[in-house]
Amino acid sequence: MKTNIDGKTKLLGLFADPCTHSNSPLIHNKSFQILGINMVYLAFQVNETNIKEAIDALKTLQMVGANLSMPNKRIAIPYLDRLSPEAELIGAVNTIVNDDGILTGYITDGIGYVKSLEEEGINIRDKKITVVGAGGAGAAICIQSALEGAREIAIFNRTLEKAQSIANKINDSTACKASPYSLKEYEALKREMMDSHIFTNATNIGMGRFENESLIEDDDFFREDLVVVDIIYNPRKTKMLEMAEKKGCKIINGMGMLIHQAAEAFRLWTGENMPIEYIKDIFNKEDIKG
Ligand code: NAP
Repeated sequence: MKTNIDGKTKLLGLFADPCTHSNSPLIHNKSFQILGINMVYLAFQVNETNIKEAIDALKTLQMVGANLSMPNKRIAIPYLDRLSPEAELIGAVNTIVNDDGILTGYITDGIGYVKSLEEEGINIRDKKITVVGAGGAGAAICIQSALEGAREIAIFNRTLEKAQSIANKINDSTACKASPYSLKEYEALKREMMDSHIFTNATNIGMGRFENESLIEDDDFFREDLVVVDIIYNPRKTKMLEMAEKKGCKIINGMGMLIHQAAEAFRLWTGENMPIEYIKDIFNKEDIKG
């Protein structure tokens, strides 16, 4: 179980600011230990002032790769050699793989979302999805869902332009039909939700200072056969998920997405499957916060 650091130990890192609250070092180091992989993962405080040097260091120190989080997901792109098709389309990177000095950027958030639904028996192929939120996570969810065969996506956002930009990318490059809406269009939101298989909250409403708020205030918006996803994982059950559960909906929180996006990065770096059940157990037992 224990990895002893020696002369052959390979380094991975998180480049983010802030970085000390991240669960990624725990997830990856526990996984290395259980699989006996001789790698370590550390968190480094990196932002716009030192992102270029940090990325250069991946090559200089022959690091296996890195994760990127705020504020680096977009600003790192000019320093990478290649992008995956998803990262190119989404315009953001959360995982870098160093392949003998060639740095490739990937985005695994959307894959994490799709896999977390599959794990609950829900396949997004041919489904209609309504998503609220067009930030980094919302963009990754919408674009990955479109790439994986979702039939139709209604994208609502407070700032309409961001929803429009994602919808344009989807309509231009996939067979999925995407429609952008302002979050102010509450009647349109109800109509689109009524017609959807899956509804997803990808905003901050439900966590932090918004913990006591629900994105949807009227429980008439929920019906028994709607799958309701909230990608927030702290708290595990947001007010919105509580409401949806009372109406009989299947509910899914953000833990699965968190673990599966990490598992996808782990697979890209190591070629191995992350011990997902073991990692989930740690989160459940220790009630780790996000
Ligand atoms: P982000 O890029 O900052 O986007 C935030 C989104 O929330 C935007 O759509 C924003 O709308 C919206 N929003 C914020 N405050 C709002 C308000 N008062 N009213 C209405 N909309 C509001 O952040 P992100 O990275 O996409 O993260 C969004 C959420 O997803 C967070 O709760 C985060 O914890 C969660 N997340 C979960 C995972 C996971 O693995 N489970 C991964 C990533 C993120 P505007 O565009 O109008 O500002």
